[in-house]
Amino acid sequence: MNPQIWFLTGSQHLYGPETLTQVADQSAEIQRTLAAGGLSAEIVGKPVLTDARAIKQVMLEANADDDCIGVIAWMHTFSPAKMWIGGLDALRKPLLHLHTQHNASLPWSTIDMDFMNLNQAAHGDREFGFIQARLGVPRKVVAGHVSDPSVVRRIGGWARAATGLQHLRGLRLARFGDNMRDVAVTEGDKVEAELRFGVSVNTYGVNDLVKVVDDIPDAEIDKLVAEYRDLYEVDASLLGERHESLRYAARIEAGLRQFLTDGGFGAFTTNFEDLGGLRQLPGLAVQRLMADGYGFGGEGDWKTSVLVATVKAMGAGTGRGTSFMEDYTYHFGPGEPKILGAHMLEVCPSIASAKPRAEIHPLGIGGREDPVRLVFDAADGPAVVMGMADMGDRFRLVANEIEVIPPDEPLPNLPVARAVWKPLPSLSTSAECWITAGGPHHTVLTQAVGAETLRDFADMAQTELLMIDERTTTADFSDRVRWNQAYHRLARPL
Ligand code: MN
Repeated sequence: MNPQIWFLTGSQHLYGPETLTQVADQSAEIQRTLAAGGLSAEIVGKPVLTDARAIKQVMLEANADDDCIGVIAWMHTFSPAKMWIGGLDALRKPLLHLHTQHNASLPWSTIDMDFMNLNQAAHGDREFGFIQARLGVPRKVVAGHVSDPSVVRRIGGWARAATGLQHLRGLRLARFGDNMRDVAVTEGDKVEAELRFGVSVNTYGVNDLVKVVDDIPDAEIDKLVAEYRDLYEVDASLLGERHESLRYAARIEAGLRQFLTDGGFGAFTTNFEDLGGLRQLPGLAVQRLMADGYGFGGEGDWKTSVLVATVKAMGAGTGRGTSFMEDYTYHFGPGEPKILGAHMLEVCPSIASAKPRAEIHPLGIGGREDPVRLVFDAADGPAVVMGMADMGDRFRLVANEIEVIPPDEPLPNLPVARAVWKPLPSLSTSAECWITAGGPHHTVLTQAVGAETLRDFADMAQTELLMIDERTTTADFSDRVRWNQAYHRLARPL
């Protein structure tokens, strides 16, 4: 796939061919400036739009084109917006309304009515804004001159969100086993998820996977073990007396990969209560598949797995990582309160601060052989954690801006990969808000995309998002939860 963003320039016939040629040239210049800013998708310019038929036609083409992940619209001149009703009503791709103009400065000493008539975005885009508001079209508005790096950065973030949505629309998820027994938040409506997000979620008997795992030829395992030795600090015991465990971990990886590839799956879940003939809980395999962009959720948690796959698609090529995560335990003090996040095994090495270590340790639950896993600390820096809950009548995303920091001290006895972070605005406010919102304990932690991109995604997917950031207070947040409750019930179509 070659992700494209179509650039639509609005105008009308009244200006005449000479002016419309100028409009087209200046629009092309704006598109080049955007492209030079380093977007993750190609900008594809379309002919200047001057009538309702052409507008509807290009929107229908955008819907039908798998490479088109979204549409940017700009009204260079005045484009009477009733022309846009049919097209906007038909559009099913994400829309960004870019409110800009060709010139950054006014030519004070030479400005005349010709200049005024050519550069009318200041009111042309307001006419366009009205019709979008009138129709209730989901869209993002970005205002500013395209020479301003923050304008390009925000459009870039939106393009990443659109890439995530596109990935989600075609995502297939395989669940090995069902939900962990009696756990509530990992449940959810898979029919609604397919309608809302496009993702298809289905369960497979774990022994369907075991059969593939058991049939993996030795040569493939040799290759993987060589790769492990190349990429990780492999514990001496795994190369010596416990080498068979490492080879079995590699067998699980190869089998999982084959199962997922054969079925066209981009995400999966496991459940330690339902391992069938698997001799180890998949740890290393899950970690490495996540590093290759697969979504994952533990304990049958398909919603978090969907989010991991989606956010990984958004962050592709940034050089920063995204992982499945779980709030595990707290440090209330001394010093600043912080959260230690981890999972039983399954944290993605794309967020590692240094070369991971491959180790083997006992696992208290699951009743299987000791599993091999990668152990590391997460790289520090800003990040966001986000989780999804099913509230019965809708999905709710809850997110928190965080700062990943190094652990206060080394953790020599902790045999799993982990991240330590300070949630904004503070541990107590963050936790009070998260719990008030009913946010899940499983999340996706991303260092690759920021809060604005995740908000863009929620808007595109028309899904509630409650964001906890440095300005959040528990009182205001609780009000927002109440208001959202009313809003989402009123906004829901009959
Ligand atoms: Mn868990």
